[in-house]
Amino acid sequence: MKIIKHIIGGKETAGTSGKTQPVYNPSTGEQSGEVVLGGAAEVDAAVQAAQAAFADWSATPPAKRARLMFALREVMNARRDEIARTISAEHGKTHGDALGEVTRALEVVEFAAGIQSHLKGSFSRDVGPQIDTCDERQPLGVVAGITPFNFPSMVPLWMIPMALACGNTFVLKPSERDPSSANLVFDLFKQAGLPDGVLNIVHGGKGAVDAVLDHPGIAAVSFVGSTPIAEYVYTRGCAAGKRVQALGGAKNHMIIMPDADMDQAADALMGAGFGSAGERCMAISVAVPIGEKTADMLVDKLAPRVAALKIGPPDDPEAEMGPVITAAARDRIEACIAAGEKEGAKVVVDGRGLKLQGYEGGFWVGGTLIDGVTPDMEIYRTEIFGPVLSVLRARDYDQAVDLINKHEYGNGTAIFTRDGDAARDFAKRIQVGMVGVNVPIPVPVATHSFGGWKRSLFGSHGIYGPEAVHFYTRLKTVTARWPTGIRAGAQFTFPSME
Ligand code: NAD
Repeated sequence: MKIIKHIIGGKETAGTSGKTQPVYNPSTGEQSGEVVLGGAAEVDAAVQAAQAAFADWSATPPAKRARLMFALREVMNARRDEIARTISAEHGKTHGDALGEVTRALEVVEFAAGIQSHLKGSFSRDVGPQIDTCDERQPLGVVAGITPFNFPSMVPLWMIPMALACGNTFVLKPSERDPSSANLVFDLFKQAGLPDGVLNIVHGGKGAVDAVLDHPGIAAVSFVGSTPIAEYVYTRGCAAGKRVQALGGAKNHMIIMPDADMDQAADALMGAGFGSAGERCMAISVAVPIGEKTADMLVDKLAPRVAALKIGPPDDPEAEMGPVITAAARDRIEACIAAGEKEGAKVVVDGRGLKLQGYEGGFWVGGTLIDGVTPDMEIYRTEIFGPVLSVLRARDYDQAVDLINKHEYGNGTAIFTRDGDAARDFAKRIQVGMVGVNVPIPVPVATHSFGGWKRSLFGSHGIYGPEAVHFYTRLKTVTARWPTGIRAGAQFTFPSME
């Protein structure tokens, strides 16, 4: 049986906790491996390794750190297929979807390769008599990342390239549900030439997370996962004096205006609602058609397509989506559908109880379409994180905007319309961090930053892009007088140009 171990100071280790957890192939439901679960001892060892590596790594010129990112890009491109297969084996997403995850991760590596420009400081001459001021951004020290199951390569790679390029060293605590991708990420960095100790991996669950949050040697924590854990990580990490960014869950709405191209909107909802079995924080989980006529047309278009979704294991080239991550996730999603039905919503296409021939033990949920969802229903308020698309019929555009603005989450949203006025108004008024206009999944490219609003992000920085440079560095401003030979005498008033 494959055992997935920690990587500390460049070496694999099982640690000392003696605890493990099974890892599954979600398509078959069979156990494919076992991951070791670390705690305070393993986190401490990883922090020590990262601290030891920090002096040399932070003193490595940015140009050389950038070169490592260029090398990493080559390694990742050469091993794309292997990375995608490793993701799918434990996550279950289709091979094409996993390749997409690798592509988005590569974009962050490419942005990090430009670190020399991103770290450039500013300079002001003559701020006082013979006095100049410059500023620079310096690394924080050892920083940590805690990541979710749904993008087991991409989310760690949202964090690590930027943190390392800025001169920090890193401890990653990946999801325990699909941990092999994290070790492969380490292997890619190693092949690109990363020195031992700069990147360390400690596997585990709550025990490892708490050890990260409490460790005095960790300066900052990036977290991506569900909202209750994001809030917990933010609160506990900040209380321990760390800089924390914690990205949480979502409930993403898409408004379909009466003037929208209905076929285009239906295509967008199929991909954004059911791609990756809905296990994306930017998945559209609520369609909001404006007016009954628009809603009827949309449901008529969607229902046959949802019922005909091609579902299969990652190596099925026809599959449009795979299984969900665990048996517990399947049961929870099915319970959400049942709760919606009980609350009075209409299950138009029911994905419960799906069995696939030859894969009877897999964690399958079929595509599900639910109409007549209302704002008071639990199915509307909570994040389902599965292949379930709700339709909430809005009277008019203003009611739809109001609905979105009142929701506790504010990760992503979209509007489909041909009306430029409505689109412009939407982009301005909507209380959501990432907005799409005729784009259903508006995940920003790596030259911009990713982050939601409200209870989808705790902390003041988005992830990757320019925000990452700010998150992973601190500002130092130097005010200097040259030549030194000028005597101004002792000045007891506050220094100014007067
Ligand atoms: P999760 O919150 O269960 O787990 C995330 C991390 O937290 C994992 O590393 C896990 O080990 C750890 N964790 C879990 N329970 C914990 C506890 N009680 N105490 C301390 N640590 C704990 O999330 P998940 O199920 O792996 O991922 C899905 C969630 O992540 C969804 O809510 C999704 O919306 C969200 N997500 C958000 C973004 C974003 O950018 N906003 C991106 C991807 C996923």
